[in-house]
Amino acid sequence: MTITPLMPVYPRSPVRPVRGEGVYLYGEGGEKYLDFASGIAVNLLGHGHPHLTKAIQDQAATLMHVSNLYGSPQGEAYARRLTEATFADTVFFTNSGAEAVECAIKTARRYHHHHGRPEKNVLITFANAFHGRTMATISATNQEKLRDGFAPLLPGFTVIEFDNLDAAREAVTEHVAGFLIEPIQGEGGIRPAGLAFMKGLRALCDEHDLMLVLDEVQCGVARTGKLYAYEHYGIEPDIMASAKGIGGGFPMGACLATEKAAAGMVIGTHGSTYGGNPLAMAAGQAVLDIVGNEEFLTRVERMGERLRGALEQMIPNHDHLFESVRGLGLMLGVKMKTDSRDFVTYLRQHGLLTVAAGDNVMRVLPPLIIEEAHVTEFVERLSEAARRYELPQAAA
Ligand SMILES: *Cc1c(COP(=O)(O)O)cnc(C)c1O
Repeated sequence: MTITPLMPVYPRSPVRPVRGEGVYLYGEGGEKYLDFASGIAVNLLGHGHPHLTKAIQDQAATLMHVSNLYGSPQGEAYARRLTEATFADTVFFTNSGAEAVECAIKTARRYHHHHGRPEKNVLITFANAFHGRTMATISATNQEKLRDGFAPLLPGFTVIEFDNLDAAREAVTEHVAGFLIEPIQGEGGIRPAGLAFMKGLRALCDEHDLMLVLDEVQCGVARTGKLYAYEHYGIEPDIMASAKGIGGGFPMGACLATEKAAAGMVIGTHGSTYGGNPLAMAAGQAVLDIVGNEEFLTRVERMGERLRGALEQMIPNHDHLFESVRGLGLMLGVKMKTDSRDFVTYLRQHGLLTVAAGDNVMRVLPPLIIEEAHVTEFVERLSEAARRYELPQAAA
């Protein structure tokens, strides 16, 4: 037998963390890493944050899981806080991002079904999007590497060019239920949608009574300096998927919706065994306690400007490697002139953790609790590593 006990679907790196402390991770042999990957935008509070750790410990000892068959004081309290802090009137809790997107897709289709228009079941999605790894969410993208070998895919998705309002307008037919979009594409290469484009999608939805469904799984929960990225655009969605950072490392997600959009989501239409269990709710509350206030959000914005500024200053010293910086807040991407995957691998060997993305972008996604000293350390070490990095033969 040659297959590994862990199904070999990931090209796992030699970094093998066993302990975390704030912005640092420690490997099996005690190697120390500066973690500007945050488990792919998950560990908003870094590692071992006392408030989050204690909330989980206390709740685990009190009540971990019951069932959605019973009343949930924990879920009601946290859902109320989320609805007060966002556009939403109601929340369904999930265990992951893909499940939150699934719930969002179902809610959008069900809205039209509820109003006697079951033929309106197509969501318009965007090139290079990433919405997860379930059958519906891989059907909602054109990325071949996610779809290869999994046919038949689900019907009901039309993929068009990102950030092209004319294409969006032309794609609206009598079968369209709405748009599903990441306001800032994450895996696709940290690509923020333009202001006019997002406002245009909102106007198209209003005009044709369509659902604007945002996938804020990566860009949501304070990552960009706002609690949710839609706030940067001065618009509100009808439905939104949230996950990754929402539990600060505890696996959970949420599908948020307005009362109007959730019209079809009545008793029996959806469910989850674990979704919203008391332990998850305690984790979500603890994260929101820390990040859900203006002071924290302003700090993320300021730290994002520092990091971006420092990266931009560094680029001219290594302009054979780096092109530009893009993104918002602490969701940053460095567009590279060489294979970003190889460079990210190289950085790992030098104790720096970042994440590769599409379009030869290196994602820089630090915990939101970083301080200026971490920004300085990151950029100095990145610059040092860039100095020593030799271009692979093919790119040289
Ligand atoms: C990570 C991600 C998902 C999928 O989340 P999982 O928790 O891995 O299922 C969906 N959408 C976006 C934008 C993501 O970044």
